[in-house]
Amino acid sequence: MRTRTSNAKKQLESPRRFVSAAGRTVYALNLEVFPNFFGNVYVIDDGARRTLVDCGSGMDFSNDNLVRGLASIEDRFGARIGLADIDVILITHGHMDHFGGLQFVRRHTDAPVGIHVLDRRVLTHYEERVVVASHQLRVFLNRAGLSDGKCDQLMMMYTAPKARYGSVPVQFLLDEGQPVPDADGGDLDLEVLHVPGHCPGQVCLRVDDILLTADHVLARITPHQSPESLTLNMGLGHYLDALGKVETLDGIRIGLGGHEEPIPDVTARVAEIRESHHKRLEQIVDSCREGQTTADISRTLFGAVRGYTVLLALEEAGAHVEYLYQRGELVAENVGELESEEDPVVRYVRA
Ligand SMILES: [Zn+2]
Ligand SMILES: [Zn+2]
Repeated sequence: MRTRTSNAKKQLESPRRFVSAAGRTVYALNLEVFPNFFGNVYVIDDGARRTLVDCGSGMDFSNDNLVRGLASIEDRFGARIGLADIDVILITHGHMDHFGGLQFVRRHTDAPVGIHVLDRRVLTHYEERVVVASHQLRVFLNRAGLSDGKCDQLMMMYTAPKARYGSVPVQFLLDEGQPVPDADGGDLDLEVLHVPGHCPGQVCLRVDDILLTADHVLARITPHQSPESLTLNMGLGHYLDALGKVETLDGIRIGLGGHEEPIPDVTARVAEIRESHHKRLEQIVDSCREGQTTADISRTLFGAVRGYTVLLALEEAGAHVEYLYQRGELVAENVGELESEEDPVVRYVRA
């Protein structure tokens, strides 16, 4: 989850250029995607085709940063790339800061859009997803032990920015082990890794010895986790499994994340992230000597937080609690209430 030390809260040098072992160029643009929160989009230029990886959030300043960022590639590196020159668009996962700019981008190019099948519905049936996901979130917050007023407040924060976006069609799917097509039915020669957890359809993309890690591995923060009770194929169990997938890749020289600066040693960074989750899991087991709600556990882990961070902290705590509960290390203490009440708050205790 994001913390105050997050480097996603300051703008990085942009654009930057990376060249893969096989001579393909990857341009990195750092955009302000939400106020004071920055994300990376990438353009892979293989000499014949330009592939845009992620689109920013679609907020006006994010779109503006994207257009200016592309223009500055020409100023700094001499390569002229406008949105109209983009041949293919790949979306690494179904989070707003990565796909929200898609409608804007598609006004300038009819490049086909690809995403993993498990996140496709977020793009193609967005309005339905917001309703269903909001319902699941409400259930989670009620069980987490928040007051009705606090639940209402968090639900408003969750749903308000989502009104900006509408569904867009997807032309092809990204699938592990399968080629990524270009607009003419050719092969972009990118390796797709499906790494669920942070998002059900999260993918990493390999460009020779460069790994675009998206929000699966980031340089400083541990990518945000939500419980699988909100959406299948999210959750800490999937995430930790999928870390193993990138940890064992041979020949990766650098990782480029969806936020923050490049990752010089992806394998070492994966070990740090795994370690931080294990510490958090131990801390939770330790704190559950007496019955604790998810809201209690969130406070133990993250202290008093405010605004949208309250929601992020609860989801992060919920993902860890769920992981321990699934594995029989925590059990529900108030079984009587669970039996007799419709939507009771759950209190967890160590087994
Ligand atoms: Zn994300
Ligand atoms: Zn992100």
